[in-house]
Amino acid sequence: MSLMELSHASNEVKVGGDSVAVMDLHRRDVSDEQLHRFEQYAAEMFSAFGMELDSPATADTPRRFVRALLDATAGYDGDPKLLTVFETECRGGPDCRLSQVIEGPIQFYALCEHHALPFYGHAYVGYIAHEHIIGISKLTRLVRLFARRFTVQERVGQQIADSLDEMLAPHGVAVYLEAHHLCTQMRGVQEASPLTRTTFWRGAYEENPALRSEFFVACGLQR
Ligand SMILES: [Zn+2]
Ligand SMILES: [Zn+2]
Repeated sequence: MSLMELSHASNEVKVGGDSVAVMDLHRRDVSDEQLHRFEQYAAEMFSAFGMELDSPATADTPRRFVRALLDATAGYDGDPKLLTVFETECRGGPDCRLSQVIEGPIQFYALCEHHALPFYGHAYVGYIAHEHIIGISKLTRLVRLFARRFTVQERVGQQIADSLDEMLAPHGVAVYLEAHHLCTQMRGVQEASPLTRTTFWRGAYEENPALRSEFFVACGLQR
């Protein structure tokens, strides 16, 4: 069993000497001075919109808001623990081409890049391993890496699918996301709370409808 190793300097993953760029891991550089300025902007906005900032409960709200937003977008900082990939003993045959590894539901929270308001829901991720596999907990990390940003649901799914494809070189990748979007639900008159559903298929899943149905059945999503 060999490990892929993360090289921080070059943001690459090494597989037995060969390097493949997997994802950007530029840690954000936000100074205390900037954070302090952002707190003042937030205070100005909250107070103009109606918040009373001089109560014990709210005096610290601008600071908490800025910190919470920074935490909620920590996906931009990358996740070095993610990049450990193991080799399997691939013997070819139908198991290698058809056996799915499926994880879900994985809860995620993201911020829509159009309104900077949350959308949140569940991800289901599946792949058909070839020579590399990834720890199950790493799939959860991968989802969070791309969800904790200012983004859109389509991009989260594409990034999960494409980075798994790149990291594992599997026979196929399947990603299904369902989410509630607060930017539509909190404004206007919405009686129902609709789920937005998106699917992403790579490799064998693109050509094989039976694999796609099996994925949904295994996820418990066949209704
Ligand atoms: Zn939005
Ligand atoms: Zn194979």
